[in-house]
Amino acid sequence: MKLAVPKERRPHERRVAASPDTVKKLIQLGFDVVVEKDAGLNSSIPDSAFSAAGATIAADAATTYQDADVIFKVQRPLHGNEGDIDEVSLIKPGAIVAAILSPANDPASVEAYTNGNITAFAMEFMPRITRAQSMDVLSSQSNLAGYRAVIDAAAAYSRAFPMMMTAAGTIAPAKVMVMGAGVAGLQAIATAKRLGAVVSATDVRAVAKEQVESLGGKFVMVESEETGETEGGYAKEMSDDYKAKQAELIATTLAKQDIAITTALIPGRTAPVLITREMVQSMKPGSIIVDLAAEAGGNCELTKAGEVVEENGVKIIGHHNVPSLVSTDASALFAKNLLNFITPLVDAGNKSLNIDWQDEIIVGTLLTKDGAIVHERLKPQNQ
Ligand code: NAD
Repeated sequence: MKLAVPKERRPHERRVAASPDTVKKLIQLGFDVVVEKDAGLNSSIPDSAFSAAGATIAADAATTYQDADVIFKVQRPLHGNEGDIDEVSLIKPGAIVAAILSPANDPASVEAYTNGNITAFAMEFMPRITRAQSMDVLSSQSNLAGYRAVIDAAAAYSRAFPMMMTAAGTIAPAKVMVMGAGVAGLQAIATAKRLGAVVSATDVRAVAKEQVESLGGKFVMVESEETGETEGGYAKEMSDDYKAKQAELIATTLAKQDIAITTALIPGRTAPVLITREMVQSMKPGSIIVDLAAEAGGNCELTKAGEVVEENGVKIIGHHNVPSLVSTDASALFAKNLLNFITPLVDAGNKSLNIDWQDEIIVGTLLTKDGAIVHERLKPQNQ
Protein backbone atom coordinates (compact mmCIF):
# COMPACT_ATOMS: atom_id res chain seq x y z
CA MET A 1 0.00 0.00 0.00
CA LYS A 2 1.59 3.25 -1.11
CA LEU A 3 0.63 6.46 0.70
CA ALA A 4 1.74 9.72 -0.93
CA VAL A 5 2.24 13.13 0.66
CA PRO A 6 2.69 15.71 -2.11
CA LYS A 7 3.96 19.25 -1.61
CA GLU A 8 1.16 21.82 -1.28
CA ARG A 9 0.95 24.03 -4.36
CA ARG A 10 -1.97 26.40 -3.71
CA PRO A 11 -1.27 30.07 -2.78
CA HIS A 12 -0.80 30.96 0.92
CA GLU A 13 -0.48 27.29 1.89
CA ARG A 14 2.49 26.51 4.14
CA ARG A 15 1.28 23.31 5.76
CA VAL A 16 1.99 19.66 4.93
CA ALA A 17 -0.29 16.68 5.47
CA ALA A 18 2.18 14.46 7.35
CA SER A 19 4.74 14.81 10.12
CA PRO A 20 7.69 12.55 11.00
CA ASP A 21 5.58 11.28 13.89
CA THR A 22 2.62 10.28 11.68
CA VAL A 23 4.94 8.81 9.01
CA LYS A 24 6.28 6.36 11.61
CA LYS A 25 2.75 5.35 12.58
CA LEU A 26 1.60 5.02 8.95
CA ILE A 27 4.52 2.68 8.28
CA GLN A 28 3.54 0.60 11.33
CA LEU A 29 0.05 0.34 9.80
CA GLY A 30 1.61 -1.22 6.68
CA PHE A 31 1.97 1.77 4.31
CA ASP A 32 5.00 2.59 2.18
CA VAL A 33 5.10 6.36 2.67
CA VAL A 34 6.41 8.62 -0.08
CA VAL A 35 6.86 12.33 0.63
CA GLU A 36 7.58 14.84 -2.13
CA LYS A 37 10.89 16.70 -1.90
CA ASP A 38 10.58 19.93 0.14
CA ALA A 39 6.96 19.15 1.13
CA GLY A 40 7.69 20.06 4.76
CA LEU A 41 9.99 22.99 4.12
CA ASN A 42 7.45 25.70 5.04
CA SER A 43 6.57 23.82 8.23
CA SER A 44 10.22 23.51 9.30
CA ILE A 45 10.28 19.77 8.54
CA PRO A 46 13.30 19.00 6.36
CA ASP A 47 13.29 16.00 3.98
CA SER A 48 15.89 14.39 6.26
CA ALA A 49 13.34 14.29 9.14
CA PHE A 50 10.81 12.51 6.92
CA SER A 51 13.41 10.01 5.66
CA ALA A 52 14.67 9.40 9.21
CA ALA A 53 11.07 8.49 10.07
CA GLY A 54 11.08 5.92 7.27
CA ALA A 55 9.57 7.79 4.30
CA THR A 56 10.99 7.73 0.79
CA ILE A 57 11.57 11.20 -0.67
CA ALA A 58 10.31 11.57 -4.25
CA ALA A 59 11.96 14.13 -6.54
CA ASP A 60 8.76 15.50 -8.13
CA ALA A 61 4.97 15.39 -8.11
CA ALA A 62 4.70 12.72 -10.83
CA THR A 63 6.88 10.27 -8.87
CA THR A 64 5.06 11.09 -5.63
CA TYR A 65 1.57 10.41 -7.04
CA GLN A 66 2.59 7.44 -9.22
CA ASP A 67 0.71 4.27 -8.19
CA ALA A 68 -0.28 5.74 -4.79
CA ASP A 69 -3.28 4.01 -3.18
CA VAL A 70 -3.83 6.82 -0.66
CA ILE A 71 -2.97 10.51 -1.00
CA PHE A 72 -2.86 12.83 2.00
CA LYS A 73 -3.05 16.54 1.27
CA VAL A 74 -3.97 19.72 3.14
CA GLN A 75 -5.77 21.38 0.21
CA ARG A 76 -7.31 19.85 -2.88
CA PRO A 77 -4.92 18.84 -5.66
CA LEU A 78 -4.59 21.17 -8.67
CA HIS A 79 -6.68 20.18 -11.65
CA GLY A 80 -7.07 21.29 -15.27
CA ASN A 81 -5.13 24.46 -16.03
CA GLU A 82 -5.09 25.77 -12.46
CA GLY A 83 -1.33 25.56 -12.09
CA ASP A 84 1.87 24.29 -13.69
CA ILE A 85 0.77 20.71 -13.29
CA ASP A 86 -2.55 18.87 -13.20
CA GLU A 87 -2.17 16.85 -10.00
CA VAL A 88 -5.55 15.12 -10.33
CA SER A 89 -4.45 13.60 -13.65
CA LEU A 90 -1.49 11.98 -11.83
CA ILE A 91 -3.78 10.08 -9.43
CA LYS A 92 -4.42 6.45 -10.32
CA PRO A 93 -8.06 5.37 -10.75
CA GLY A 94 -9.56 4.02 -7.53
CA ALA A 95 -7.07 5.83 -5.27
CA ILE A 96 -8.17 7.62 -2.10
CA VAL A 97 -7.59 11.35 -1.59
CA ALA A 98 -8.15 12.83 1.88
CA ALA A 99 -7.87 16.64 2.16
CA ILE A 100 -9.86 19.85 2.63
CA LEU A 101 -11.65 19.68 -0.74
CA SER A 102 -13.97 22.76 -0.64
CA PRO A 103 -16.29 21.32 -3.32
CA ALA A 104 -18.76 24.23 -3.15
CA ASN A 105 -16.01 26.69 -4.11
CA ASP A 106 -14.71 24.49 -6.91
CA PRO A 107 -17.34 22.29 -8.59
CA ALA A 108 -14.94 21.55 -11.47
CA SER A 109 -12.68 19.71 -9.04
CA VAL A 110 -15.53 17.32 -8.21
CA GLU A 111 -15.96 16.59 -11.90
CA ALA A 112 -12.22 15.93 -12.15
CA TYR A 113 -12.47 13.33 -9.33
CA THR A 114 -15.40 11.54 -10.96
CA ASN A 115 -13.66 11.59 -14.36
CA GLY A 116 -10.52 10.17 -12.75
CA ASN A 117 -12.51 7.59 -10.76
CA ILE A 118 -11.05 8.94 -7.52
CA THR A 119 -12.37 8.13 -4.04
CA ALA A 120 -12.34 11.64 -2.57
CA PHE A 121 -12.87 12.39 1.13
CA ALA A 122 -13.58 16.00 2.20
CA MET A 123 -12.11 16.22 5.69
CA GLU A 124 -13.99 19.46 6.42
CA PHE A 125 -17.29 17.52 6.26
CA MET A 126 -16.32 15.39 9.26
CA PRO A 127 -19.45 14.75 11.34
CA ARG A 128 -19.34 16.37 14.78
CA ILE A 129 -19.63 13.18 16.78
CA THR A 130 -17.44 12.14 19.69
CA ARG A 131 -15.74 9.32 17.73
CA ALA A 132 -14.66 11.76 15.01
CA GLN A 133 -13.27 14.50 17.27
CA SER A 134 -9.66 13.37 16.77
CA MET A 135 -10.15 13.54 12.97
CA ASP A 136 -11.71 17.01 12.90
CA VAL A 137 -9.42 19.28 10.87
CA LEU A 138 -11.71 22.30 11.25
CA SER A 139 -11.35 22.14 15.03
CA SER A 140 -7.62 21.53 15.11
CA GLN A 141 -6.93 24.36 12.66
CA SER A 142 -9.50 26.84 14.06
CA ASN A 143 -7.99 26.45 17.50
CA LEU A 144 -4.61 27.61 16.19
CA ALA A 145 -6.24 30.38 14.13
CA GLY A 146 -7.94 31.72 17.27
CA TYR A 147 -4.61 31.82 19.06
CA ARG A 148 -2.84 33.47 16.14
CA ALA A 149 -5.55 36.12 15.72
CA VAL A 150 -4.81 37.46 19.19
CA ILE A 151 -1.05 37.36 18.60
CA ASP A 152 -1.55 39.32 15.36
CA ALA A 153 -3.77 41.82 17.16
CA ALA A 154 -1.22 42.27 19.95
CA ALA A 155 1.59 42.77 17.42
CA ALA A 156 -0.34 45.43 15.47
CA TYR A 157 -1.60 47.21 18.62
CA SER A 158 0.59 50.14 19.64
CA ARG A 159 -0.24 49.64 23.31
CA ALA A 160 0.21 46.81 25.81
CA PHE A 161 -2.32 44.08 26.63
CA PRO A 162 -1.82 43.61 30.39
CA MET A 163 -2.38 46.17 33.10
CA MET A 164 0.99 47.47 34.25
CA MET A 165 1.49 49.49 37.41
CA THR A 166 4.87 51.14 37.15
CA ALA A 167 6.68 53.99 38.83
CA ALA A 168 6.09 56.00 35.65
CA GLY A 169 2.36 55.44 35.71
CA THR A 170 -0.32 52.83 35.18
CA ILE A 171 -1.20 51.23 31.86
CA ALA A 172 -4.83 50.11 31.56
CA PRO A 173 -5.46 46.57 30.29
CA ALA A 174 -6.60 46.16 26.68
CA LYS A 175 -10.30 45.48 26.15
CA VAL A 176 -10.86 42.62 23.74
CA MET A 177 -14.17 41.56 22.28
CA VAL A 178 -14.51 38.18 20.54
CA MET A 179 -17.44 37.69 18.16
CA GLY A 180 -18.31 34.06 17.60
CA ALA A 181 -17.38 31.77 20.49
CA GLY A 182 -16.80 28.51 18.60
CA VAL A 183 -13.48 26.69 18.54
CA ALA A 184 -11.45 29.68 17.24
CA GLY A 185 -13.29 32.20 19.42
CA LEU A 186 -12.81 30.22 22.64
CA GLN A 187 -9.08 29.91 21.98
CA ALA A 188 -8.94 33.65 21.21
CA ILE A 189 -10.62 34.36 24.57
CA ALA A 190 -8.16 32.09 26.41
CA THR A 191 -5.15 33.65 24.65
CA ALA A 192 -6.31 37.24 25.25
CA LYS A 193 -6.93 36.42 28.93
CA ARG A 194 -3.44 34.93 29.24
CA LEU A 195 -2.01 38.16 27.83
CA GLY A 196 -3.85 40.09 30.52
CA ALA A 197 -6.72 41.64 28.53
CA VAL A 198 -10.25 42.23 29.79
CA VAL A 199 -12.31 39.98 27.52
CA SER A 200 -15.94 39.88 26.45
CA ALA A 201 -17.56 37.70 23.80
CA THR A 202 -20.81 37.24 21.93
CA ASP A 203 -22.45 34.43 19.96
CA VAL A 204 -25.87 33.51 18.63
CA ARG A 205 -25.73 30.13 20.40
CA ALA A 206 -26.80 30.54 24.05
CA VAL A 207 -24.77 27.44 25.03
CA ALA A 208 -21.61 29.46 24.38
CA LYS A 209 -22.30 31.55 27.52
CA GLU A 210 -21.06 28.92 29.96
CA GLN A 211 -17.96 28.21 27.86
CA VAL A 212 -17.06 31.90 27.61
CA GLU A 213 -17.54 32.43 31.34
CA SER A 214 -15.49 29.35 32.22
CA LEU A 215 -12.55 31.03 30.44
CA GLY A 216 -13.03 34.24 32.41
CA GLY A 217 -14.78 36.19 29.65
CA LYS A 218 -17.96 38.24 29.97
CA PHE A 219 -20.78 37.02 27.71
CA VAL A 220 -22.96 39.58 25.96
CA MET A 221 -25.89 38.43 23.89
CA VAL A 222 -29.07 39.70 22.29
CA GLU A 223 -32.15 39.11 24.46
CA SER A 224 -34.32 36.98 22.18
CA GLU A 225 -36.49 33.88 22.05
CA GLU A 226 -34.77 32.95 18.79
CA THR A 227 -32.26 30.12 18.90
CA GLY A 228 -29.13 30.46 16.76
CA GLU A 229 -28.21 26.79 16.78
CA THR A 230 -29.05 23.98 14.34
CA GLU A 231 -29.51 20.40 15.54
CA GLY A 232 -25.95 19.70 14.38
CA GLY A 233 -24.60 22.31 16.80
CA TYR A 234 -23.75 24.86 14.07
CA ALA A 235 -24.94 28.45 13.81
CA LYS A 236 -27.73 29.39 11.42
CA GLU A 237 -28.63 32.66 9.76
CA MET A 238 -30.70 34.86 12.09
CA SER A 239 -33.90 36.82 11.35
CA ASP A 240 -33.76 40.48 10.33
CA ASP A 241 -35.21 41.48 13.70
CA TYR A 242 -32.43 39.59 15.53
CA LYS A 243 -29.79 41.10 13.25
CA ALA A 244 -31.05 44.63 14.02
CA LYS A 245 -30.93 44.00 17.79
CA GLN A 246 -27.47 42.44 17.45
CA ALA A 247 -26.18 45.43 15.43
CA GLU A 248 -27.38 47.75 18.21
CA LEU A 249 -25.69 45.65 20.89
CA ILE A 250 -22.42 45.45 18.96
CA ALA A 251 -22.46 49.18 18.17
CA THR A 252 -22.69 50.14 21.84
CA THR A 253 -20.18 47.52 23.02
CA LEU A 254 -17.62 47.92 20.24
CA ALA A 255 -17.04 51.66 20.75
CA LYS A 256 -15.56 50.81 24.17
CA GLN A 257 -13.20 48.10 22.87
CA ASP A 258 -9.55 48.26 21.80
CA ILE A 259 -9.49 44.96 19.93
CA ALA A 260 -12.17 42.94 18.15
CA ILE A 261 -11.55 39.36 17.00
CA THR A 262 -14.29 38.11 14.70
CA THR A 263 -14.80 34.41 13.96
CA ALA A 264 -18.51 34.15 13.06
CA LEU A 265 -19.21 31.63 10.32
CA ILE A 266 -22.33 29.96 9.00
CA PRO A 267 -21.49 26.67 7.25
CA GLY A 268 -22.02 26.85 3.48
CA ARG A 269 -22.82 30.60 3.42
CA THR A 270 -20.95 33.86 3.32
CA ALA A 271 -20.04 35.10 6.80
CA PRO A 272 -22.51 37.45 8.54
CA VAL A 273 -21.49 41.13 8.58
CA LEU A 274 -21.35 42.08 12.25
CA ILE A 275 -19.21 45.24 12.09
CA THR A 276 -20.26 48.02 9.72
CA ARG A 277 -18.16 50.95 8.53
CA GLU A 278 -20.06 53.19 10.96
CA MET A 279 -19.15 50.92 13.87
CA VAL A 280 -15.48 50.97 12.84
CA GLN A 281 -15.63 54.77 12.81
CA SER A 282 -16.98 54.73 16.38
CA MET A 283 -13.87 52.87 17.61
CA LYS A 284 -10.87 54.70 19.06
CA PRO A 285 -7.90 55.35 16.73
CA GLY A 286 -5.32 52.62 17.30
CA SER A 287 -7.97 49.92 17.74
CA ILE A 288 -7.50 46.64 15.89
CA ILE A 289 -9.96 44.26 14.24
CA VAL A 290 -8.74 40.78 13.27
CA ASP A 291 -11.26 39.16 10.97
CA LEU A 292 -10.87 35.37 10.86
CA ALA A 293 -13.86 35.16 8.52
CA ALA A 294 -12.00 37.23 5.87
CA GLU A 295 -11.90 34.40 3.33
CA ALA A 296 -15.64 33.75 3.79
CA GLY A 297 -16.51 37.36 2.94
CA GLY A 298 -15.59 38.89 6.31
CA ASN A 299 -17.46 39.78 9.50
CA CYS A 300 -16.46 43.41 9.03
CA GLU A 301 -17.83 45.39 6.12
CA LEU A 302 -14.36 46.83 5.41
CA THR A 303 -12.33 43.61 5.52
CA LYS A 304 -10.32 42.74 2.43
CA ALA A 305 -8.97 39.18 2.35
CA GLY A 306 -5.20 39.16 2.35
CA GLU A 307 -4.90 42.84 3.31
CA VAL A 308 -4.63 45.15 6.29
CA VAL A 309 -7.11 48.00 5.76
CA GLU A 310 -6.95 51.22 7.79
CA GLU A 311 -10.04 53.35 8.45
CA ASN A 312 -10.00 56.30 10.81
CA GLY A 313 -6.88 54.95 12.57
CA VAL A 314 -8.45 51.49 13.06
CA LYS A 315 -6.58 48.58 11.45
CA ILE A 316 -8.64 45.72 10.02
CA ILE A 317 -6.53 42.60 9.51
CA GLY A 318 -7.86 39.95 7.13
CA HIS A 319 -5.05 37.46 6.62
CA HIS A 320 -5.42 34.52 4.25
CA ASN A 321 -5.11 31.04 5.68
CA VAL A 322 -4.33 31.92 9.31
CA PRO A 323 -3.51 28.31 10.38
CA SER A 324 -0.69 28.41 7.80
CA LEU A 325 0.90 31.25 9.81
CA VAL A 326 1.46 28.67 12.57
CA SER A 327 2.37 26.03 10.02
CA THR A 328 4.54 23.73 12.12
CA ASP A 329 1.90 23.10 14.77
CA ALA A 330 -0.94 23.26 12.23
CA SER A 331 0.76 20.58 10.10
CA ALA A 332 1.42 18.37 13.12
CA LEU A 333 -2.24 18.46 14.16
CA PHE A 334 -3.59 18.15 10.61
CA ALA A 335 -1.31 15.15 10.02
CA LYS A 336 -2.60 13.56 13.23
CA ASN A 337 -6.22 14.13 12.12
CA LEU A 338 -5.50 12.28 8.85
CA LEU A 339 -3.70 9.46 10.66
CA ASN A 340 -6.70 9.07 12.99
CA PHE A 341 -9.00 9.03 9.95
CA ILE A 342 -7.13 6.31 8.03
CA THR A 343 -6.25 4.06 10.99
CA PRO A 344 -9.70 2.43 11.38
CA LEU A 345 -9.82 1.85 7.60
CA VAL A 346 -6.72 -0.37 7.59
CA ASP A 347 -6.77 -4.11 8.07
CA ALA A 348 -3.33 -4.35 9.70
CA GLY A 349 -3.20 -8.16 9.42
CA ASN A 350 -3.63 -8.16 5.64
CA LYS A 351 -1.95 -4.78 5.13
CA SER A 352 -4.89 -3.65 3.04
CA LEU A 353 -7.76 -1.17 3.24
CA ASN A 354 -11.07 -2.44 4.53
CA ILE A 355 -13.68 0.32 4.43
CA ASP A 356 -17.20 0.11 5.83
CA TRP A 357 -18.97 2.31 3.26
CA GLN A 358 -22.03 2.60 5.56
CA ASP A 359 -20.07 4.07 8.48
CA GLU A 360 -21.26 7.55 9.51
CA ILE A 361 -17.79 9.05 9.17
CA ILE A 362 -17.35 7.63 5.66
CA VAL A 363 -20.83 8.67 4.53
CA GLY A 364 -20.29 12.14 6.00
CA THR A 365 -17.00 12.81 4.20
CA LEU A 366 -17.05 10.79 0.96
CA LEU A 367 -17.66 13.01 -2.08
CA THR A 368 -17.00 10.74 -5.06
CA LYS A 369 -16.51 7.02 -5.67
CA ASP A 370 -16.49 4.77 -8.75
CA GLY A 371 -16.89 7.71 -11.10
CA ALA A 372 -19.97 9.14 -9.38
CA ILE A 373 -20.87 11.89 -6.88
CA VAL A 374 -22.11 10.16 -3.74
CA HIS A 375 -22.36 12.92 -1.13
CA GLU A 376 -25.88 14.08 -0.30
CA ARG A 377 -24.88 17.76 -0.14
CA LEU A 378 -23.47 17.64 -3.69
CA LYS A 379 -26.45 15.99 -5.33
CA PRO A 380 -28.16 18.50 -7.66
CA GLN A 381 -31.45 18.58 -5.70
CA ASN A 382 -29.56 19.65 -2.51
CA GLN A 383 -27.48 22.43 -4.01
P1 NAD B 1 -17.95 27.93 13.28
O1 NAD B 1 -16.52 28.03 12.89
O2 NAD B 1 -18.91 27.36 12.29
O3 NAD B 1 -18.49 29.40 13.70
C1 NAD B 1 -17.81 30.17 14.69
C2 NAD B 1 -18.75 30.72 15.70
O4 NAD B 1 -19.47 31.82 15.16
C3 NAD B 1 -19.83 29.73 16.21
O5 NAD B 1 -19.76 29.64 17.61
C4 NAD B 1 -21.14 30.37 15.74
O6 NAD B 1 -22.22 30.10 16.62
C5 NAD B 1 -20.77 31.84 15.71
N1 NAD B 1 -21.68 32.69 14.90
C6 NAD B 1 -22.25 32.40 13.69
N2 NAD B 1 -23.02 33.43 13.29
C7 NAD B 1 -22.94 34.41 14.26
C8 NAD B 1 -23.49 35.72 14.41
N3 NAD B 1 -24.32 36.23 13.50
N4 NAD B 1 -23.17 36.40 15.53
C9 NAD B 1 -22.34 35.88 16.47
N5 NAD B 1 -21.79 34.67 16.38
C10 NAD B 1 -22.08 33.93 15.29
O7 NAD B 1 -18.13 27.14 14.66
P2 NAD B 1 -17.19 26.05 15.30
O8 NAD B 1 -16.00 26.68 15.88
O9 NAD B 1 -16.97 25.00 14.30
O10 NAD B 1 -18.08 25.49 16.52
C11 NAD B 1 -19.48 25.29 16.51
C12 NAD B 1 -19.86 24.35 17.67
O11 NAD B 1 -19.50 23.01 17.35
C13 NAD B 1 -19.15 24.68 18.97
O12 NAD B 1 -20.07 24.52 20.02
C14 NAD B 1 -18.10 23.61 19.08
O13 NAD B 1 -17.71 23.33 20.41
C15 NAD B 1 -18.81 22.44 18.45
N6 NAD B 1 -17.86 21.41 17.95
C16 NAD B 1 -18.12 20.07 18.17
C17 NAD B 1 -17.26 19.08 17.70
C18 NAD B 1 -17.50 17.61 17.94
O14 NAD B 1 -18.35 17.29 18.76
N7 NAD B 1 -16.84 16.71 17.26
C19 NAD B 1 -16.15 19.46 16.96
C20 NAD B 1 -15.92 20.82 16.73
C21 NAD B 1 -16.81 21.79 17.22
